[in-house]
Amino acid sequence: MCEGRVDVIQGVNEETLKHCPWCGLEVRRIVSRATFKIAGAITKDGAGKKGFTTFRRAEKGIWEKTDGEGPDVLSGTKDDIAAVDAEKAPPKKVIDLDSSDSD
Ligand SMILES: [Zn+2]
Repeated sequence: MCEGRVDVIQGVNEETLKHCPWCGLEVRRIVSRATFKIAGAITKDGAGKKGFTTFRRAEKGIWEKTDGEGPDVLSGTKDDIAAVDAEKAPPKKVIDLDSSDSD
């Protein structure tokens, strides 16, 4: 009901929101691209020694580890990739409940 999308900031450990706080319809979480800075100016090359795992994008939805002790490869599911693509796409037209279209 909210133009197909609402933005809610949640902590990574918070339970995923199941329903839209405004209209109450069921929602699914899409993790947005976020930028953040690691305190202490860790260089990319030093990140592994500080306990971080770094990845480089190998292809769409596939990320290969470059440093650290995390998994060798991260891969998104088809749904994840579709969700990211949907986020990049311009918003779909607003559903007009008063419209008398019957398709
Ligand atoms: Zn809503």
